[in-house]
Amino acid sequence: MEVSATKRRLLKVIFLGDSGVGKTSLMNRYVYKKFNLQYKATIGADFMTKELKIDDQLVTLQVWDTAGQERFQSLGAAFYRGADCCVFVYDVNVAKSFESLSSWHEEFLKQAAPADPKAFPFLLLGNKIDVDNGRSRAVSEKRARQWCDSRGNMPYFETSAKEDYNVNEAFLCIAKTALTNEE
Ligand code: GDP
Repeated sequence: MEVSATKRRLLKVIFLGDSGVGKTSLMNRYVYKKFNLQYKATIGADFMTKELKIDDQLVTLQVWDTAGQERFQSLGAAFYRGADCCVFVYDVNVAKSFESLSSWHEEFLKQAAPADPKAFPFLLLGNKIDVDNGRSRAVSEKRARQWCDSRGNMPYFETSAKEDYNVNEAFLCIAKTALTNEE
């Protein structure tokens, strides 16, 4: 009988998006089940890991955070190297964070240079949907979905790291999507 540990797959996931959209908070919520209102509570750690099982596949998700260097070209090659999935995050209340997504997408394609850019697993998360009960929303769900569709049916989730809304669902999809990467 095969030992299950030998079947474990390590999946590297990177998060990209403007500073302040909630990337660290989403990871903290999912990996450590906690939320901190303080800005940039995590300093230093390059990545967080979480083990999970998808169907019969044991998976270690290695989720890479940017620790505040979200300016184009300031993330080193090691950040992008060997990524199995790239997750874009914007803040649904901040139009600029949505408008930056295309630049982040281009930056990823340039830096990570996946063999088949169309087949590479991407996801989009629209975070902070709790703010003002949605009244301060600046980007509609429809607009976000159109952006995803124009880039080859990227899965889209609306999340709140603060209220723990849709975070587990999004990460499960991240893991499943990353598993499809053959590179
Ligand atoms: P990052 O720079 O993208 O990693 O963003 P952070 O995770 O550091 O979050 C920036 C700020 O937004 C912090 O003050 C967080 O507490 C706050 N924040 C993150 N996610 C949410 C959310 O879902 N709802 C609300 N209301 N605030 C959030």
